[in-house]
Amino acid sequence: MLPPGHIAASYILIKSVETLGFKISLPEIMLILVASVVLDFDLIVAHRLKKSHHDLFTHTPWGVFLIWLGFILLFGANLSLATKILVLVVFFIHLFLDELGFWLCKLGFQEVSKESQINWLYPIKKFKDRQESFPLNAKFLLHYYQKAKANVFLEIVLSLIALLVFWLT
Ligand SMILES: [Zn+2]
Repeated sequence: MLPPGHIAASYILIKSVETLGFKISLPEIMLILVASVVLDFDLIVAHRLKKSHHDLFTHTPWGVFLIWLGFILLFGANLSLATKILVLVVFFIHLFLDELGFWLCKLGFQEVSKESQINWLYPIKKFKDRQESFPLNAKFLLHYYQKAKANVFLEIVLSLIALLVFWLT
């Protein structure tokens, strides 16, 4: 999934949690939204290694847990408990949304992704070590909008809901 979908899903989550009575400050909201897309900065490393960024440590449950732990050790003292937990939750939602493309493809709603995107069992299970499927260029977006139609539809729906929530709250 692309950044708009990750950010929109996280924003809806934050606003849902706020309805339960948790107070989350604006800087914390911004931090959680950044956390929802920060994992994809591994694209830079993956591009250099010429492999899929979904085959990197940074897109595994174990990897995001360790990243979260490091983040909490560095900045946790200044954050509310709700924000600390939400950062971990949006990391995991990121992985689920990235994997969703595989299930939408398996169900016949789109042409990509034909294989599982996330190595849920790392480090027990080795990475598939796939080639970089989407180089960082304009062709990627065109390919994505043509082949990952269900993903795009979901991203549009999530973004519209997030905008509606933003407008109403
Ligand atoms: Zn990702």
